[in-house]
Amino acid sequence: MRFFAHPDTSAGPEAGYREHYLAADARQASVAIAAWLVPLLLFAGGDYFLFGASRQLVVLLTLRLAFAAFSLYTISALAKITTPREYDNILLRWAVFAVIAVLYFNYAWARYIPPNGVLTILIIFSAYMVFPARLPIRLAPPLALSAGNFFLHLWVSEPISPQILFTSLVALAMANTLGIIFSTWLHKHRLTEFQARLEETRVKEELGRLAATDDLTGVLNRRKIMELAAREYERFVRERRPLSVAMIDIDRFKKLNDTYGHEAGDLVLTSFTAYVARQLRREDIWGRLGGDEFVLILPDTPAEQAEAVAERLRVGTEAVVWQDQELPYTISSGIAAAREKDQSVDEVFKRADKALYNAKRRGRNRTEILS
Ligand code: GH3
Ligand code: MG
Repeated sequence: MRFFAHPDTSAGPEAGYREHYLAADARQASVAIAAWLVPLLLFAGGDYFLFGASRQLVVLLTLRLAFAAFSLYTISALAKITTPREYDNILLRWAVFAVIAVLYFNYAWARYIPPNGVLTILIIFSAYMVFPARLPIRLAPPLALSAGNFFLHLWVSEPISPQILFTSLVALAMANTLGIIFSTWLHKHRLTEFQARLEETRVKEELGRLAATDDLTGVLNRRKIMELAAREYERFVRERRPLSVAMIDIDRFKKLNDTYGHEAGDLVLTSFTAYVARQLRREDIWGRLGGDEFVLILPDTPAEQAEAVAERLRVGTEAVVWQDQELPYTISSGIAAAREKDQSVDEVFKRADKALYNAKRRGRNRTEILS
């Protein structure tokens, strides 16, 4: 049976958050990695000025080229990821390589340029900002780089002046603190935006569901039935697959209402719709036209088969228990199948209605067909 399912909220509000941003995050990480390649390769010039044609130059150039190759490999791997887990793993692998490489470059240049220079501070801060990832993965690389760099500074710059040590510590602390604060703020903002979007989708779905369902019984209402019927009819015209319509009406419902009250009548209506819904296939369209009148649209079903379905429903109808007493009720159905010469689905409905009228006229509690 077709109906509008409630949105699944069982997975929690954060479910889907990272998946939602995955493609954008992967692109952002690729751009950052590519941007860092530029200074990395330009500094090969610095290697040459500092070390001339030496063994150290060869080591540094080899490391730069290896890092560039690994970065390109990482960018191509990021283009193929499908889960946040893959993103985290690929990024973490690249970050380990990056931290080791930067520490080595800083070590090699330390005699000429203090390790906690502007560039390292910039790398640390931007690492927080440009790699949206799970918190531990976001924190580990810049913290590792900061610690490594600080000890490197202590080790290679002996004797170190207290002013330089202090400045270096403050710069590292600031880069990390600001990085953590801003990246956390950014993530919160994105999560809020994502949740607002989820809520918007949920509200839209709920509105759509309300506009399509009957208040009392929860099955499709007239408007939605007519919309789906028109769609099925188009399919019938296009694909020439059989299509049947069954009009179903509860017999002497007015009397039932008058005898037992409106609430008992409502219970019969809701029990009956639920009973029918349980009997149907996924593709069947089941709804209430209004009052005690219902319609069942059966795609891929010739009239005789639809008649058999209606008969099964009629025979299976069970009494409803209301205030400890059984309220038996019966139904009548009119069946019609779409014909080639029909102009629209309305004509099929009209024939089904006529068949229903015949069923009522011939004594009720029966199924009539007009094919
Ligand atoms: P027939 O066998 O010819 O169909 O007889 P009937 O009494 O069912 O005739 P009719 O279809 O005219 O009666 C429908 C009744 O359904 C009239 C109305 O009071 C009642 N009705 C319509 N909507 C509701 C509803 O939402 N709840 C209840 N309890 N009754 C309703
Ligand atoms: Mg009736």
